[in-house]
Amino acid sequence: MSFISLGLSGFFQRALDEQGYEAPTAIQAQAIPAVISGRDLLAAAETGSGKTAAYVLPLLEILQSQDAPASNCAAVLVLVPTRELALQVETSIKSYSRYMPRRVTSLAVYGGVSINTQMQALRGGCDLVIATPGRLLDLVEKNAVKLNQVRHLILDEADRMLDLGFAEELQKVLSLLPPQRQNLLFSATFPEEVDALIDKLLFNPVTIEIERKNKLPESLTQRAIEVDTEQRTSLLRYLLSQHSGDQFLVFVASKRAANNVAIKLNKAGFNADTLHGDMSQIDRNGALQSFKAGQTQVLIATDLAARGIDIPLLPFVVNYDLPRSPADYIHRIGRTARAGEAGTAFSFIDHSSDAHFELIVKRNQLTIDREQIPGFERNSTPPPEALQPTKGPQPIKGKRKSKKDKLREAAERSKAYEGRQGSSIWSTAKLKSED
Ligand code: AMP
Repeated sequence: MSFISLGLSGFFQRALDEQGYEAPTAIQAQAIPAVISGRDLLAAAETGSGKTAAYVLPLLEILQSQDAPASNCAAVLVLVPTRELALQVETSIKSYSRYMPRRVTSLAVYGGVSINTQMQALRGGCDLVIATPGRLLDLVEKNAVKLNQVRHLILDEADRMLDLGFAEELQKVLSLLPPQRQNLLFSATFPEEVDALIDKLLFNPVTIEIERKNKLPESLTQRAIEVDTEQRTSLLRYLLSQHSGDQFLVFVASKRAANNVAIKLNKAGFNADTLHGDMSQIDRNGALQSFKAGQTQVLIATDLAARGIDIPLLPFVVNYDLPRSPADYIHRIGRTARAGEAGTAFSFIDHSSDAHFELIVKRNQLTIDREQIPGFERNSTPPPEALQPTKGPQPIKGKRKSKKDKLREAAERSKAYEGRQGSSIWSTAKLKSED
């Protein structure tokens, strides 16, 4: 099967050849004809499935025969949860559209950088705007972009967008769009909130790969390594030296941990950089670019980098700290073993994360044998602090509180209150059902 047989014009071939795409992926084979025909689309996008090209290519095909948008208007609106994904989608659009007869304009708009440059770039109108919801609304408020001529709406990583607390902004954006439009929704998971969005947004959609949601690529090996907390950096150094020259994406729980681990690795002679929310947008882009270009061996990241970031040929992911949510585990490890390449995801399990790892495994219906690496064996008795009752996942600083965080807080407040008044059945039951 060729891209052209799916309904794309011949002028895309050269750009696709340059990308090294020989044949459409499964999601592309189904999505491209459906989008060209104008249907709404609902896709369970597996990590590394080629979902970006699955919607960008047919939209470019449609745009080829349409007039350029009016001043400050956009024809296609792609909503994404993070700045990094916005930039990545824009890069894909630019490379796929390189040899189109009609010049197609695209712009990524996201917070954390100057709004003025984005306002100027939108002045003449823009075929495709790729935006994070918050910054998009800021631009609407300043009359820099009008959404009343949007004909195609794409929600990329809808689940992540809702996870990050964008529900309100999303509703606001939807209310600004014209009712007549094509809607494409991509999501890796389908919690209730996403289902509600699907009902509201999509009209008789073509559905793709729904039954394969959360499936991990077969080329991905998961290894759970039991190790003592204070041995984790040594173990990481050992793994790095065992695979010298290979790139590692290492996930940690906090910005401070990212900096600490990077300093230790650099001292030990490894080329390590960080990616987290305390860095300026320019530094974040720089760190990601250097890593993508293979100039950095190790990137130590917080969950900011967990989703949607496409690092070609990344062989190793390490969960130095486990992620807060079981869904984030899948997103993190999905950064490796993309597009059919082999990849390994290591998870470090210290005594205090035993129970949480079991939860991650259970919720994701995984089977992972635990192992110990000679020289880094975990003490058989947990240290006293690991036996302290866990406080439960803490909200990440600087992030909007999730519904669960709010509920948990409410339950805790009510527990404290009821501790004085009587039982706390309601709060416990409510939390259980939400968890
Ligand atoms: P995505 O799921 O859109 O993030 O894409 C994952 C990776 O697959 C990216 O590196 C794409 O460049 C690559 N890719 C997308 N489509 C194809 C294809 N048809 N053949 C080979 N690689 C592809």
